[in-house]
Amino acid sequence: MNNESDLMGQRLTVLLHSLQATQVSASDAARTVELDQSRVGRLSRMDALQAQAMSLESNRRREARIRNIRSALARIERGEYGDCIECGEPVDPRRLQADPAAALCIACAEVSGASG
Ligand SMILES: [Zn+2]
Repeated sequence: MNNESDLMGQRLTVLLHSLQATQVSASDAARTVELDQSRVGRLSRMDALQAQAMSLESNRRREARIRNIRSALARIERGEYGDCIECGEPVDPRRLQADPAAALCIACAEVSGASG
């Protein structure tokens, strides 16, 4: 493992931990919404359901992000970090600076329409 991917590994681990921390508080928020529903009127219940849907959606995105980061950490361990998982070409280092979990080179990311 070279110093650069070691550094990226540290960044990814920090990211992973902070995402996992918000994951817990987000599910707490969803629970709070459920409790509120029993003692509020219909209109507020709609608001509560909407808030819950949004919270579930952001949880879903966070889970996808966590999977992304975990797979980047696994690639570091295998010594494959920094290579595009589609075409195997090196991913632009500036891209990795912006998103250490980036799995695709810019060309493949454009084809797949994914941001990372
Ligand atoms: Zn590629």
